[in-house]
Amino acid sequence: MSSLFEMDIQKLKGVGPKRAPLYRKLGAPTAGDLLRLYPRTYEDWSVQVPIAAAPLGEVSVIRGTVLHTPSETRIRKGMTLYKLKVTDGDTDLALTFFNNRYIPTLLREGETYLFRGKVTGTLLRREMSSPEFLPEGKALAVVPVYPATAGLTSRMISAAVRSALELLPQTVHDPLPQAVREEHQLCHLGYALENIHFPRSSGDLDIARRRLIFEEFLVLQLGLMAIKKGRRTRNAHPLPNRFPQEFEDLLPFRLTGAQRRAIGESIADMAGDSPMNRLIQGDVGSGKTAVAAALCWAVIQTGAQAALMAPTEILAAQHYQSLSQLLEPAHIPVALLTGSVKAAEKKKIYQALADGRIQLVIGTHALLGDQVEFQNLGLVITDEQHRFGVNQRSALAQKGTSPHLLVMSATPIPRTLALMIYGDLDISILDELPPGRQKIETYLIDPAKRQRAFGYIQKHLDQGRQAYLICPLIEEDDSGLESVEEYAALVRKSFPGTPVGVLHGKLKAQEKEAVMNAFSRGETKLLVSTTVVEVGVDVPNAVIMLIENAERYGLSQLHQLRGRVGRGQYQSTCILVTPAQNQETLKRLKLFRDTSDGFQIADADLKLRGPGDFFGSRQHGLPQLKIADLSGDLEVLRQAQACAKELFSSGLLESREAAGLRGEIRRLFHKTGGEGVVL
Ligand code: ADP
Ligand code: MG
Repeated sequence: MSSLFEMDIQKLKGVGPKRAPLYRKLGAPTAGDLLRLYPRTYEDWSVQVPIAAAPLGEVSVIRGTVLHTPSETRIRKGMTLYKLKVTDGDTDLALTFFNNRYIPTLLREGETYLFRGKVTGTLLRREMSSPEFLPEGKALAVVPVYPATAGLTSRMISAAVRSALELLPQTVHDPLPQAVREEHQLCHLGYALENIHFPRSSGDLDIARRRLIFEEFLVLQLGLMAIKKGRRTRNAHPLPNRFPQEFEDLLPFRLTGAQRRAIGESIADMAGDSPMNRLIQGDVGSGKTAVAAALCWAVIQTGAQAALMAPTEILAAQHYQSLSQLLEPAHIPVALLTGSVKAAEKKKIYQALADGRIQLVIGTHALLGDQVEFQNLGLVITDEQHRFGVNQRSALAQKGTSPHLLVMSATPIPRTLALMIYGDLDISILDELPPGRQKIETYLIDPAKRQRAFGYIQKHLDQGRQAYLICPLIEEDDSGLESVEEYAALVRKSFPGTPVGVLHGKLKAQEKEAVMNAFSRGETKLLVSTTVVEVGVDVPNAVIMLIENAERYGLSQLHQLRGRVGRGQYQSTCILVTPAQNQETLKRLKLFRDTSDGFQIADADLKLRGPGDFFGSRQHGLPQLKIADLSGDLEVLRQAQACAKELFSSGLLESREAAGLRGEIRRLFHKTGGEGVVL
């Protein structure tokens, strides 16, 4: 098998220099890659319908005997029409083909074929135009459909795959060691490749699929584990393994049990032999900031510096504010470095970071700039990590000597998924909210009740509170500019005399900040916003979150939005407005209405919408998977994860039988330009 990865696709029978670039474009530069280009789907040719029973306008497979040699008509220059009739014994079917001069030789009188295409015409005269066909007997029950591209049909790819399969040696070398295959009841690679492309039956296809999915998950998981192991360098910033009680004593509150646990686990990491690599996962409001503050404090006590990177300016500013507050009693100076900081101020910050006067800096990507140097960077914290991707995570770390790494995520992710996406990190979970939090009442209403909802908001405004209004979403328009302004006009009319702030993605960073600050200071009472307000924003006086077009969001995203309220002492409310009538949609929204646990919501979201939607457009920084699906194949994922752990700890991964497996890991991570996998 591995030698086929050295065989240029151009050398494969039936490919040639003209089509080779098309194959490369599809991600198959070698014969080996082509075998790993799995069908997108399969056509079922096994069920054939009588011609008279074929529904008009739908694709059917028909078994028909050719009644006469196809006739040939030149209808205009360069356009030739071939016509023939076939019968299934009861009914005739008229077939037409355009410009295929092989038709008369391919379709012979008296022979029987299977035809697949859309049946058109009338009840009395049925037709099919340019159907696909296969001689009866040669037809497979299941025909693979490949991701075709201009100039390359699925059939051509299928033929090329066939020639590649013929090149497979009698005994294909399987990257999965035999012991693994036996334990997990997986078929051999040769069998899997044959049956994923040309399954003999749907049962064989299932067997092949399961094996390939398992392999893909296993390789991915092992690769992530290898990255993690590769990072295991000497701990350059060892801390005493002691809970930072002095810090807690400075806080205005007692830490929750979960916060104490997360801090303890992180400190233990940082006191260990190698640097910390840890993910803190916690629902909105679980108090991740205090955990981050405690760890910064502990690192800074040893004379090292800490840096926190957030994905947006708003978030960075918010972190700056809350961390400054928490660390002020400890007399730790904090700086904010974002793209919109003035040049002169930036320069000062660069200086103070380089000579160690500033011990904690909060910022955006601006922290990755060339001019940013640290005297002694001991801890790197990134917030909302999956917006950064694996490589950026290490870019900031490069500015120090193996600093400790802490990743904070407010998106609850089901544990199996987290293990995959953050497979290179240890995980602490904040599964406890600070005491005294009130449950956020959630309501689901249709647009007819909007005015009543506005009345409810007015009542709270009268009591001095504030509210968020998430504006309607216009599809295909990511800026949402038009809708946000229209909606703001409606809001202003409905709340005369109330100062309204408007926030959307098209604003400059500074403008955004001004809008946010005005709301945060209570100068504006209502904030009309697109989902840019989604993460991290903290205004305790805001008690109502009204979300228009709630049906358009994933549950996890709704959960993030809902988490913007209920952050202070006041009872808070979330109002979902939806015109949706669809039972499935309403069921989904009702589930959200009745659940407050972010992990439970994430699980439901994942099941209902799949990982693509789950992550939205967010980067998760993982290599592209060819066949496995992070949500659909959870059971296989679990098995592969268990297997990966065992291979790693038993040392089998380093053995000779696992050489092929190591090759697959290198191949997967090499292609994505990911960090070096150490094997
Ligand atoms: P998140 O995990 O969403 O980032 P934050 O760190 O912003 O949560 O904390 C949410 C709010 O809870 C903040 O106002 C913070 O001061 C407060 N808080 C954090 N920890 C505690 C605690 N142990 N007891 C009481 N309040 C807390
Ligand atoms: Mg936060």
